[in-house]
Amino acid sequence: MPGVVITITSGKGGVGKTTTVANLASALALAGKRVIAVDGDIGLRNLDLVMGLENRIIYDLVDVVEQRCQLPQALIRDNRVKSLSLLPAAQTRDKADVHPTQMITICHELRQIADYILIDSPAGIEHGFHNVVAPADRILIVTTPDVSALRDADKVIYLLERDWKRQPGLIVNRYNPTLARAGEMRGIDDILDILSIDLLGVIPEDREIVLSTDRGVPAVFDRRVYVAQAYRNIAQRLMGNNVPLMDFRKPGFFARLFKRMR
Ligand code: ADP
Ligand code: MG
Repeated sequence: MPGVVITITSGKGGVGKTTTVANLASALALAGKRVIAVDGDIGLRNLDLVMGLENRIIYDLVDVVEQRCQLPQALIRDNRVKSLSLLPAAQTRDKADVHPTQMITICHELRQIADYILIDSPAGIEHGFHNVVAPADRILIVTTPDVSALRDADKVIYLLERDWKRQPGLIVNRYNPTLARAGEMRGIDDILDILSIDLLGVIPEDREIVLSTDRGVPAVFDRRVYVAQAYRNIAQRLMGNNVPLMDFRKPGFFARLFKRMR
């Protein structure tokens, strides 16, 4: 069966797209799937850094498009889990160097060798956005609970429905259940009321994410990290398995428990 192309996008920058792609790709690979993470943020790549593969880049997506190498030559295999690879973006080039039809051709080839192709997006709704939406079988919107991220997410959802006839799924990132309970952060129900699309998962705010990004080791590789379970749950849902939402009622308890296990 050909693989599924899933694009993770948002509109606003800095909401956690790249972190989400790195962790979901790793979680799917750890669950035994063949996965290729594609950096669609041409000119501003950083998926390679978050995955800790930046020193092994020889060719990139633009080299493939401009036929300086074959597609398999540009794929970097992850040493931690063999069924995971990265197709890096070019650092020195412009988003306009790649066209949506070329992304469709590349993804068609990737579908033959992977179960899941996860595409990381640039911020914005222009050319780079078209490149990542055109080849997608599924689109996931990442948002944080704050008003500016929600407004941009709402705009992207509107554009996807109007121009592409697409219904994206939603991932809420950097959710803080303690603040939400205290009424100091928008709750999940409020977010769903505003965006009215299907919820695929909620990722809590966790400082371990920043540490894992600095180390170049996605959080899901560390079983002790609380937030890793949220990514594993979303990966299971992408695989079609029914997994209940994480129980955020006692986050303090879990945080303490996991710290003690270290
Ligand atoms: P984007 O790709 O949308 O620009 P990034 O994935 O680069 O966003 O994330 C932006 C910043 O937010 C990074 O410093 C990252 O470590 C941090 N971050 C992302 N998700 C979380 C989270 N759940 N908890 C804490 N920090 C996070
Ligand atoms: Mg990014």
